[in-house]
Amino acid sequence: MTDLHHDLPQLSTKTRSTSVLLMPAPAQVMRGQGVLRQMGAAIARLGQRPLIVGGDRSLAIVAPMLSPMLEQQSLQLAQTNDGSTCTEASLNQMCQRVEQHQADCIIGVGGGKALDAAKLLAYHCRLPVVTIPTSGATCAAWTALSNVYSDQGAFLYDVPLSQCPNLLILDYDLIQTAPPRTLVAGIGDALAKWYEASVSSGHSERTLLVTAVQQARVLRDLLFQKAIAALQAPGSEVWQDVVDATVLVAGMIGGVGGAQCRTVAAHAVHNGLTHLLQGHHTLHGEKVAYGILVQLRLEEMVMGNLLAATARQQLLKFYEDIRLPQSLQDLGLNQITLSELQRAAEIACQPNSDIHRLPFEVTPTQLMAAMVSTTAPMSSSPATSLSNPSRIEMSFRSQEV
Ligand SMILES: [Zn+2]
Repeated sequence: MTDLHHDLPQLSTKTRSTSVLLMPAPAQVMRGQGVLRQMGAAIARLGQRPLIVGGDRSLAIVAPMLSPMLEQQSLQLAQTNDGSTCTEASLNQMCQRVEQHQADCIIGVGGGKALDAAKLLAYHCRLPVVTIPTSGATCAAWTALSNVYSDQGAFLYDVPLSQCPNLLILDYDLIQTAPPRTLVAGIGDALAKWYEASVSSGHSERTLLVTAVQQARVLRDLLFQKAIAALQAPGSEVWQDVVDATVLVAGMIGGVGGAQCRTVAAHAVHNGLTHLLQGHHTLHGEKVAYGILVQLRLEEMVMGNLLAATARQQLLKFYEDIRLPQSLQDLGLNQITLSELQRAAEIACQPNSDIHRLPFEVTPTQLMAAMVSTTAPMSSSPATSLSNPSRIEMSFRSQEV
């Protein structure tokens, strides 16, 4: 298979023109308790030979529910666990499975990576795709975007797709089978919408961008209000509200905002961290949540932004309540060396990184200084320390103790 970027649609790079193609939402969204069992006819309208893509855990849970229902519709079903990661190699293998089975429809089941893999496969083979999230960890079930990773799990690039999924099935019973930590991570990823969109698009007066940014603010407030109660009562109405927020609303904001409503430093920090092998047991949204603190700390240290300082303190309290990581230690990265930290910072600061959407220049040294001081008290924001590597090393060492 060739470079994934070669057959991209032209829409993603044309944001400067007055015509913008939006992919705001899946064609259909079905949500409710136990709804998966009612979706046989809807899936049958999309294809007669579906290929189910997912990791082993998700396939073990979902396949026994899907199989009898789809057989009742006389569909010919096959499945593959090649899509547990979204890599170029796994895409190649899945393409072969599509050919072998002569699949005419893809069904993705799982968290972020498996759904990204299913969407990318469908895009590549020009087939319709159904997404069935098995956790509230990301909004991947909604979006027209797939992240591609290396075989070692390092983030490589994202691929803008030609449409959102044809059908999204959000079955709360299924989401409830996931470890609670996945929803916590989803809350972290959804929170980033506000902190990133308000920086990348907060000054725009264009109607759709204003709408997306305001939706992101409402999403943040809703999570502040409901997350703790939701995590205490899985399956309850408030828990469903928070699942809707992380899986649906977070995706909707990206859909309405389009290519201009992009990620900024929080996801850039995540991308850099994926290149440190030790961090791989942490979830996407956990790294992103830490990345929000880093972004705010940068705004605070470089620009002396007091609002960012206040927002960081507010988030630290919230993170403590719902157990999101506040520091490198919390991410299990207390054993990394200074040069590894520098490598992650350099990757996050590469010329094409979204970190450069911040309204000021960021160097790897500045980023490292922010990365080691995410939990600093509000008064401690010495801008002079940013250009002094020995101060960074001191902060870094003191975090290890
Ligand atoms: Zn994300």
